Amino acid sequence: MTNRTFTMIKPDATLNGSTGGILGMINAAGFRIVAMKMVHLSAAKAGEFYAVHSERPFYGELVEFMSRGPITAAILEKENAVEDFRKLIGATNPAQAEEGTIRKKYATSIGENAVHGSDSDENAAIEGSFFFSKLEQF
Ligand code: GDP
Repeated sequence: MTNRTFTMIKPDATLNGSTGGILGMINAAGFRIVAMKMVHLSAAKAGEFYAVHSERPFYGELVEFMSRGPITAAILEKENAVEDFRKLIGATNPAQAEEGTIRKKYATSIGENAVHGSDSDENAAIEGSFFFSKLEQF
């Protein structure tokens, strides 16, 4: 079944010039971009997006990192999009990410790991609508 996932190219990747390379890997893996924009999140907005992690010890670092520079937010469509995109990005910690994954190539640490990918269809819909109205999804 064709479905959708949500991604962000995170500030580390934006600031080191990796946005184009990451979008190229996403395209080469067969995802169709149905919405996309660059946004510089405020700390408050980054905290809201990651509210589910608010009790975790790394929450403060995560909010600081995600509001450090612009991100590229996008909704992607493909058969089996959520699961296939998680495979394409690789493990949260780049030291454990497989060869050929985005995080293996572009991430530097467990916190600064270049990309986000939704972990379920339900979260993909919630996260996509955090950034995009219906009119901005094609
Ligand atoms: P993901 O689904 O692979 O992105 O991983 P999680 O949902 O577990 O964590 C969300 C994000 O929080 C990760 O992508 C990292 O940016 C950050 N994060 C997770 N674990 C750590 C950690 O131990 N330290 C720091 N600084 N950030 C972390």
